[in-house]
Amino acid sequence: MNRKIIRTVQARATSDGAGVNLSRVFGGRNPEQFDPFLMLDEFGSDEATDYIAGFPSHPHRGFETVTYMLNGRMLHEDHMGNKGLLEDGDVQWMSAARGIIHSEMPQQKEGLMRGFQLWVNLPASEKMKDPSYRDIPASDIPELDLDKVKIKVIAGDLSIENHAIKGAVSGLSTDPTYLDIHLQADAEVSVALPDGHTTLLYVYENKVQVGDEAQILEKSSLAILTAEGNVKLKSDQPARVILLAGKPLREPIAQYGPFVMNTSQEIEKAIQDFRDGSLVV
Ligand code: FE
Repeated sequence: MNRKIIRTVQARATSDGAGVNLSRVFGGRNPEQFDPFLMLDEFGSDEATDYIAGFPSHPHRGFETVTYMLNGRMLHEDHMGNKGLLEDGDVQWMSAARGIIHSEMPQQKEGLMRGFQLWVNLPASEKMKDPSYRDIPASDIPELDLDKVKIKVIAGDLSIENHAIKGAVSGLSTDPTYLDIHLQADAEVSVALPDGHTTLLYVYENKVQVGDEAQILEKSSLAILTAEGNVKLKSDQPARVILLAGKPLREPIAQYGPFVMNTSQEIEKAIQDFRDGSLVV
């Protein structure tokens, strides 16, 4: 049995940070359907004016941010003195948990900057834990090289044909799978995922055919898939997709900008803590 498309969502142009033009694939509206994921942004431009303003100092509480740079250089700095440069193919998996104040600023004045930022929710029991990071250089991201298909395994345990690969990130409560799949022309692949996991597929180059009915998913479209079976993909032309899966938390979601908690009281507390400086103490 293969997973089918339940519905699709179109990425929409927006602006965030100090005026970065990006594409919001999902986020903000009806978050339950993406549970445990909260947001996916795609950025991609070779016009410096689209990205140069960056994301100056801002807070987060209650979830994790995952930055995947396809191309470009972005410097990350936080209130604890952590500093890291993300370059082509690198990933930063940051658990903001009870609080982080950080900046994410481009380190280039021209050229292509391209990548994704994903927000992954934390269960109520982990929202107030200490913040933590994993900086993952591109060379540490396992890649499965099959006939006509290459898969970067950023997170999760990938099982495909006779191969089993452990992703760069594992052991989180939402058990996320994060794959960057590159298909050549006339490629076909079938990816096994845990039953019951919310499954999202985003096409960022060309288009793919999904499942037994070969439902077509176009560039800049996200599909929410059924939660059982394999994800079967076919492509006539070269295509690139992000495949996400995760265990739904099924907890109430209260969001206000960069704070994602379970109740409105917890959101008020986060805003108050940010105002009085105790968000990060
Ligand atoms: Fe941030």
